[in-house]
Amino acid sequence: MSQQVYNFGAGPAMLPAEVMQQIQQELLDYRGMGVSVLEISHRCEEFGEILTSAQQLFRELTGLPDNYRILFMHGGARMQFAAVPLNLAGRVASRKALYCETGSFARVAAKDASAFAAVKTIMSGAETGYDRIPQLPTELIEQDAAYLHITSNNTLYGTRWNRFPQTGAVPLVADMTSELLSRQIDFSQFGLIFAGLQKNLGPAGMAMVIVREDLLEYAGDQVPPLLSYKQCAKDNSLTNTTNTFAIYAIRLALEWLKKQGGVAAIEKSNERKAASLYAMLEASDFYSGMAHPEHRSMMNVTFRLPNEELERRFVSEAEKAGLYALAGHRSVGGIRASIYNPMPIAGVETLAGFMAEFAANNG
Ligand SMILES: *Cc1c(COP(=O)(O)O)cnc(C)c1O
Repeated sequence: MSQQVYNFGAGPAMLPAEVMQQIQQELLDYRGMGVSVLEISHRCEEFGEILTSAQQLFRELTGLPDNYRILFMHGGARMQFAAVPLNLAGRVASRKALYCETGSFARVAAKDASAFAAVKTIMSGAETGYDRIPQLPTELIEQDAAYLHITSNNTLYGTRWNRFPQTGAVPLVADMTSELLSRQIDFSQFGLIFAGLQKNLGPAGMAMVIVREDLLEYAGDQVPPLLSYKQCAKDNSLTNTTNTFAIYAIRLALEWLKKQGGVAAIEKSNERKAASLYAMLEASDFYSGMAHPEHRSMMNVTFRLPNEELERRFVSEAEKAGLYALAGHRSVGGIRASIYNPMPIAGVETLAGFMAEFAANNG
């Protein structure tokens, strides 16, 4: 048997083994139908049950208030960078939209939006290399804006918002791609949340959009149906053939999460996993954490070694030891351990053991 491999990739990322085993077991014959879940119509009763139960499980796991809709949309998280302004900028005549630039996806979100909204970047972490979430004074949240966009967890830099800004009447929009369902969140603070599925939830290529009902009304007639929240909500995400397989996989991932004890329980385990790696970084003079201690992500742990040559060796020796995909993002460098919900404590312990040994041999 080959050695156990732990996948620390940032996304597409590891899925629970139980989920993939279940997919494998029922792939050729979906629950007695004699056909595969890959082959059935998105409009058949069986798929309807998959979609409804995914939505219900998400509500149950998060306590999502009734006045929010759950949509599954094409195009991953990036498509939402355009969909958000297309749907929400029309809330105000000026189409003014506020953005917080806390990392690279945040910057791209603002850039993509600028074709459809009067984008104003009101805060940026560029000056300190995005190692923290800068202060956001309340007076910068202009009350005549259509919305304020934040990236709740910055996947490349390993930082996160611990607390979210109080935005008054301005709907708060959050890209939660790399942390949705990793910690308990009061959804009522948000107008809209979106997440590409491939980080913490399932396969790549789709996004989950959680939108407050009163925000469904602002898409203009020129918005393509597949990008329109209103249309998507009206059709319950079945405007066209959806990615049935991804939604099926998410339903299984949500069932898995429920079996783990839900979001509160997984949050505790995520805290433990992250704390053990951060404690190791703090105690070491070989490794140095990249994120400011007050803004550290629980999902993406980023750090550096004394030089790039050692970082390359670290990544390649780790891989031989069954620790896969630890290189930082190509634009940032360093090391990044993505430890999403499915990463078991044992994976993190194995990584910590490898780090101690590598430091002893190379320090
Ligand atoms: C990965 C990621 C994205 C991009 O996701 P795609 O599905 O590839 O478009 C956007 N935002 C954040 C925070 C991410 O981590």
